[in-house]
Amino acid sequence: MARIVQKFGGTSVADVERIKHAALRVKREVDAGHEIAVVVSAMAGVTNRMVELTSQISSMFDAREYDAVVATGEQANAGLMALALQDLGVQSRSWLGWQIPIRTDGAHGKARIQGIETDELSRRMAAGEVPVVAGFQGLGPDNRITTIGRGGSDTSAVALAGALKADRCDIYTDVDGIYTTDPRIVPKARKLEQITYEEMLEMASLGAKVLQTRSVELAMNLRVPVQVRSTFVDDPGTFVVSEDKIVEQQVVSGISYSRDEAKITLLRAADQPGVAANIFGPLADANINVDMIVQNVSEDGKATDLTFTVASGDLDAAVRLLEGAKNDLQCEKLIADSGVVKVSVVGVGMRSHAGVAKTMFTALAEKGINIQVISTSEIKVSVLVSEDYLELALRALHTAFGLDDSPKEES
Ligand code: ASP
Ligand code: MG
Repeated sequence: MARIVQKFGGTSVADVERIKHAALRVKREVDAGHEIAVVVSAMAGVTNRMVELTSQISSMFDAREYDAVVATGEQANAGLMALALQDLGVQSRSWLGWQIPIRTDGAHGKARIQGIETDELSRRMAAGEVPVVAGFQGLGPDNRITTIGRGGSDTSAVALAGALKADRCDIYTDVDGIYTTDPRIVPKARKLEQITYEEMLEMASLGAKVLQTRSVELAMNLRVPVQVRSTFVDDPGTFVVSEDKIVEQQVVSGISYSRDEAKITLLRAADQPGVAANIFGPLADANINVDMIVQNVSEDGKATDLTFTVASGDLDAAVRLLEGAKNDLQCEKLIADSGVVKVSVVGVGMRSHAGVAKTMFTALAEKGINIQVISTSEIKVSVLVSEDYLELALRALHTAFGLDDSPKEES
């Protein structure tokens, strides 16, 4: 017998038929003898509509009332799911954030969960009842409903699993797992059986759409195993777990990418103390995040070239700021380029294996792909390349790191 939190996302509970289908997935686990708690999202699209309504009615934005409105989608679905379960003969009732309570801080619209009282839920689960908990919402210190940020019901589910000391948190969604890379670009992409929390966090382009980032951080901190699986297909999904649970560790687990990149180069900036601070200070003050940075060695000791990347949406603002500060920077020329993408190979196995960068650079060189900027972390090597080469780069790297799906046997 295991204790499992089953979380259903918006597309899995988008209408009455789907709620009934999801309820069958719950019943199956109950019948197998497991103790189950369910967390639901709002029906797909409903939260967007609520957000839209609040902005139509009032420009005097009161985040407490925003929360009162946008939390309603989950409230409705918690009741509907409990009804669907009762209909299948499963004992069940709905729980809103304030009823448990799920306590949060007072940052309405993006509150953080601080604690969940689980004694009553635990007692009822042991007696065979299935609590259906409204995701995304909690109770603030001002005794009002809070919401915890868009996509937050993943985080609700992981937090609940942690508080209940559950064996696992199953996230039911419309994809069947996490892939080695984007299968729409690389047809040979494979579904991963397992991935570590850290890799999942680094594989933002592949994982972020599936799991809210904060839920992965929380799962890592609470050591809650998470399974990403499909509501509509029966196969096991991908387990997101701690490193010591991984049986056969690949050096590289996956290849992610980001199109949301732009490059700025400052040519012949003065090579003296304080120049980098003069460049990055104003950007930081304007809340512009800088990601990759390279500075070359200046030959004459007088001037240096400096290249860095920002999110595409920040490019114009960054260029305006730097143009304005050009005199302080004493640089000759500023070049902006938005036609770049970042491609990253990710794997915790890199910590103990040399040669990942070499394999990566060789594979790209063989395809004639020029690397513009490189950055590394303990478990990731990223390169910036022209956006024209995104597909080619992903495919070449996928093959070079042995990730290609082997062709299915003809039968
Ligand atoms: N319904 C909320 C949203 O759309 C929370 C969630 O679905 O995770 O953001
Ligand atoms: Mg979601």
